[in-house]
Order: sequence, then C-alpha cells, then structure tokens
Amino acid sequence: MGMVMIRCPETGSAIPTGIETDRETFRRSAVFFSRTYCRICAATHEWFAREAWVYESVLAKGTSGGWRSPRADAA
Ligand SMILES: [Zn+2]
Repeated sequence: MGMVMIRCPETGSAIPTGIETDRETFRRSAVFFSRTYCRICAATHEWFAREAWVYESVLAKGTSGGWRSPRADAA
C-alpha cells in the first residue's frame, strides 16, 4: 500500500492526499478529480489523478531517488 501524493502548486512540495492505495490499483483507476487540503498553504488544492502519484512506504527505506515527478512522465 502507498499514499497518493500530489505536488502543491504554490510551493512545489509533495503533500499527502490521505488516500491510500497501491500503485497498480491507482494506475488502473479511471481518471478522477479530487481535492486535498494543503497544510502549507492552508488551502484546498484541486487535482487530477494524472497529476498524482503513489508513494509506497516500502520504497522510503531506500530514499535515494527522491520524489517521482508526474510531469516528467506526462511530457
Ligand atoms: Zn499548497
């Protein structure tokens, strides 16, 4: 299981959406739209699934690659 993450449009920081899923399930899911409260901005950001990615805690142990940019895949 992992946490769905989005990038804060104001600060560029990765923020957790509170949605837990695994990478395969997330990839299969249809494009969806959601909102997440950002503590950094104290505001709610709207986002699409294609802008989000799954951060799996298993991979956190070998923190070397850092955050995966969803925009890099889109381009
Ligand atoms: Zn924000």
